[in-house]
Amino acid sequence: MHATTVLELDLGALRDNYGEVSRLAGDRRVIGAIKADGYGFGAAAVARELDACGAYGVWTGNPEEAIALRGAGATGRIIMFGGCLPGRIGELVEHSLIPTVHDVDGLATAARVGEQRGEPTAVYLKVDCGLRRLGVPVARAAAVARTIGADRWLRLEGLYTHLPFGDAEGGEWALQRSFAFRDLLHELSRVGVTPKVTQLWGSSGLRSALPDPSNAVCVGQLLYGFSPVADSDPLPGTFRSVIASLTTRIIHIGDHTDPNAAPASAYSFGTSARVGVVPVGTADGMRAGWRGRAMHVLVRDRPVPIIGVTLEHVMVDLDGLDHADVGDEVVLIGASANHEVTLAEWADWFGCSQLEVAVSFLNRLPKRYRGATVIRG
Ligand SMILES: *Cc1c(COP(=O)(O)O)cnc(C)c1O
Repeated sequence: MHATTVLELDLGALRDNYGEVSRLAGDRRVIGAIKADGYGFGAAAVARELDACGAYGVWTGNPEEAIALRGAGATGRIIMFGGCLPGRIGELVEHSLIPTVHDVDGLATAARVGEQRGEPTAVYLKVDCGLRRLGVPVARAAAVARTIGADRWLRLEGLYTHLPFGDAEGGEWALQRSFAFRDLLHELSRVGVTPKVTQLWGSSGLRSALPDPSNAVCVGQLLYGFSPVADSDPLPGTFRSVIASLTTRIIHIGDHTDPNAAPASAYSFGTSARVGVVPVGTADGMRAGWRGRAMHVLVRDRPVPIIGVTLEHVMVDLDGLDHADVGDEVVLIGASANHEVTLAEWADWFGCSQLEVAVSFLNRLPKRYRGATVIRG
């Protein structure tokens, strides 16, 4: 099957970004965040590359995805860091996935699972240092960690928290909140509780080089080439976008020059004489321009305006071109001889972040990988 629309993903860029992250991480372990199907890039493909790069493991956010990853042949360490109901912990352990516990109910279940299996359940304990999402409140975390230590059916493999931020003010908040995690690690080490993996920072903390008392980083955005603090701090050129291009073809050209053609109205797609139909629509992550922003794609090395967006299609105004044919290539992301459309432009047009654009495009459009290191038969 030859898909008309193709999102080309460059796994070489992912590996290069891993190299950059690894340099920033110094002697800390690097764990790859592959939640949300590897941020849309495909959890299985990303996990294989990160494994080949020597990542300590991957952290996933959803039990179905984690189990599917094992089914796809992933053999490395997979830690479940999204929440799940305590009742599913047994199932995770069966699939050699390391569960996170984020409350006391989860602990009791994990201990029961350990007892049933006759071996302690290795768990990561998630601590809430102020994000107010998942986790045991930091003030109670030392007591919970000691409870785990004292339970013969539990083993505290890791301890982590999450303090993401997107601007300088957030960075100050994260730094202040991180001291609570630092103090927790000190307190635990004084009583002899030293989990193998401790982790505080993701992309934003790593990129901002905030002080780190832990021994691992868990990074998503930087690996995929997104700046976690975009506006104030674009990534150095050594980071590359994993999205190499998004291209499709014109599938229909409507000729509206015929004097008998229906006249344009407020309900029709513009007044153009020639309307090209492109098979990428709302269901593929396309949206209308935020606050009426003008958007364009490239056809025959010329920017052509988007004049309508529907569930499966966008309509483009071809009047500015001398000539266009059904089957002509349409560049949504990428370069032609003299022009380029970037993810950053789509983010500006949609009024959202590059990560949000990427995730919505990656959700349904057919992906094609290039540059894989690991060839699987
Ligand atoms: C998503 C996530 C990360 C990675 O965040 P990035 O900003 O993409 O690097 C780290 N830790 C936790 C708990 C997460 O949910």
